[in-house]
Amino acid sequence: MSTLDALQKGLSTGDVEVIDLTAPLSPSTPVLQLPPPFANTIPLSLEPVSDFDEAGPAWGWNNIHTGEHTGTHLDAPTHWATGRSGRSVDQIPPARLVGPLAVLDVTEQVRADPDFLLEPGHLQEWETQNGPLPQGAWLLLRTGWSARGGSQETFLNADEQGPHTPGVSVAAAQWLAASGISGFGVETVGIDAGAAGGFEPPFPAHHFLLGADKYGITQLQNLDRLPTSGALILVAPLPVVGGTGSPARVYAFVERS
Ligand code: MN
Repeated sequence: MSTLDALQKGLSTGDVEVIDLTAPLSPSTPVLQLPPPFANTIPLSLEPVSDFDEAGPAWGWNNIHTGEHTGTHLDAPTHWATGRSGRSVDQIPPARLVGPLAVLDVTEQVRADPDFLLEPGHLQEWETQNGPLPQGAWLLLRTGWSARGGSQETFLNADEQGPHTPGVSVAAAQWLAASGISGFGVETVGIDAGAAGGFEPPFPAHHFLLGADKYGITQLQNLDRLPTSGALILVAPLPVVGGTGSPARVYAFVERS
């Protein structure tokens, strides 16, 4: 049996399960809020073109208004100053958007501290237990944060000091940028921690990963349904020509034994 025949058979029998890691995209999907003087992106809205009316008696359709970085989305290298001369979202090779999935679970730490930062030691510990991160892998940081996705306020979790959401330290961002991964995914609104604007350099996940031709994906969910390793991920952003990112559909293929 060919590899693809085996996959198809597994899909039809349910031995291979397809899990949607994408957050629903609606006008109430939480969106990043930067403080003044910075500009912000827009949430999703639908503008009816026709709705089975005189503008289109037998059909309904909408214009979509959204940002590249709204909802579950991919960050392309051109999103950041360090990757500005790199790939825009349409230029990412398709093979980089499919790969082995690695899940690092810090749910307990984040429950105790919403400002939790992943350190290189956590990554080294993962590799000690599971083997080296595979070449071309997508590492997903499981934090449990997607449970807050129903509310912009609890999802952004901001006070006078700014947002309190988990992420990676400067050293962990450097570690990941030097690794063989294709991308890094999170449950939060962006690939950096809420406090990362005050780090040196600011927003180190963006700085180091996008500058090293690694890609980011945000606002993932259902990570609690994934094995630590052994699953396959498919990340599907729109090929917006010159785009710095795109809303993306993200699937995991998980083998049930
Ligand atoms: Mn983004």
